[in-house]
Amino acid sequence: MKRTLLLLLVLLPLLWSSSALADSQCAQCRKWITSKDSYIEHEGKIYCSQKCFARAMPKCAACGKSIAEGKGLAGGYVYTKDKYYCSDECFQKSLPLCAVCGKSVQGGLRDQQDKSKLYCSQECYRTTLPKCALCGAVMQSWTEIEGVKFCGQCARLPECFNCQMPGAGRESRDGRRWCDSCLALTVMDQAEAQKMFDQVRLDLKSHLGLSTPDTIAFHMVDADSLGRLLGHKNFAERGFYKYNVQYTVNKKKQKKVTRELFDIYILSGLSPENFRDVAAHELAHDINYRYFPRVQGQREVEGFAEYVSALMNQYWGQDKVNDTKLRNQQKEYAEAYKYFLKLGEKGGLKAVWEYMEGKNKTASK
Ligand SMILES: [Zn+2]
Ligand SMILES: [Zn+2]
Ligand SMILES: [Zn+2]
Ligand SMILES: [Zn+2]
Ligand SMILES: [Zn+2]
Ligand SMILES: [Zn+2]
Repeated sequence: MKRTLLLLLVLLPLLWSSSALADSQCAQCRKWITSKDSYIEHEGKIYCSQKCFARAMPKCAACGKSIAEGKGLAGGYVYTKDKYYCSDECFQKSLPLCAVCGKSVQGGLRDQQDKSKLYCSQECYRTTLPKCALCGAVMQSWTEIEGVKFCGQCARLPECFNCQMPGAGRESRDGRRWCDSCLALTVMDQAEAQKMFDQVRLDLKSHLGLSTPDTIAFHMVDADSLGRLLGHKNFAERGFYKYNVQYTVNKKKQKKVTRELFDIYILSGLSPENFRDVAAHELAHDINYRYFPRVQGQREVEGFAEYVSALMNQYWGQDKVNDTKLRNQQKEYAEAYKYFLKLGEKGGLKAVWEYMEGKNKTASK
């Protein structure tokens, strides 16, 4: 807190009739003052009139008038920080205003985050403090998660599987939790999920012209089941594409496929946006398998699937999901996606398709 040195001063001009004065000049206009005239004396100087006296005095830093003719009480003026003000009114006007109530502030509290802001009182300052998004408490310090502010206590509460915000209440058998607003939207119903899955497949065909004749069985599974399928439990994994091919080998060592089984597993409890993203990703693996069977390197397989699903996210107007692809906790996925973004930078899907064709040709059988 800073204190302003404030001096309330009074001009003390002396008014004389000039009988005692030998002829002299006005310090302002140089007019001769004769013994018949009255004059003003101030700090050893004499002035012929109030007007000349006022002109000689410093000007008010607020209104620009001489401090001898401002609005204040006769002769009263303010001198502070090397500045003159003709009156208290003008001085108050020169003060900064409280960022909350608009009153002029002398001293006051400075905002530590935003130094340009000043408050007249503790009360005004407190109204600017953020409230915890969960419990509503006024906070001096806080934890920010995805731009939302929480008090220390609330920030430590279990987080929602979908929005990552703390304070998720509902817990499922596999240990995941959702906040109420996310839970209301998550894809939990098997029949609804099947419908969404089928629609994603149709959209891939109509929007990107990508389809396969494969019969794919869709399964919605919880995190425990998905973990068993993948051989590890990791909440970052949300889908799984599986093919099971049976074939016979003839005398010429040629393979003949006798049966092909395809399964796609998607984690339950995803937001509709994430469900569609994962469905498009896993279906892209099927397209990969059908058209580029020899392309099996992780960068190509995952990069292609991320690229195709990213195009679909744009089509569905859920581009935000693509930002999370770049931030994928599994670094190889993020790197593979970036690699394919670069491939498709100019030629789009066509360029990516040609790249995959090239890889399929050169890959060893
Ligand atoms: Zn004069
Ligand atoms: Zn003034
Ligand atoms: Zn205030
Ligand atoms: Zn709180
Ligand atoms: Zn949530
Ligand atoms: Zn994948």
